[in-house]
Amino acid sequence: MKRPSQFERPSLVHIMSEKKPLSLFPQRVITKCPVCREPTYSASGIHPQCAVKRADEPRRLALVADKKMKKADKQAEPCPKSSA
Ligand SMILES: [Zn+2]
Repeated sequence: MKRPSQFERPSLVHIMSEKKPLSLFPQRVITKCPVCREPTYSASGIHPQCAVKRADEPRRLALVADKKMKKADKQAEPCPKSSA
């Protein structure tokens, strides 16, 4: 007489459920910073340092442009020793 294997018996096969338990509370959606694309837990959805960087970007570009203009003006000026 052949003894039935435990896998042939459906009652034992289905004892262990492969389903993962559902969380009781909805998972928090992790927002990503629009500047550096890293996860942020700030209420505003952006890192404070990234907000500063983004706010300062137009000012920084204006300063760089101003510096370039001054450098170009300096190069266009004739040398004070040779012109005198
Ligand atoms: Zn950021």
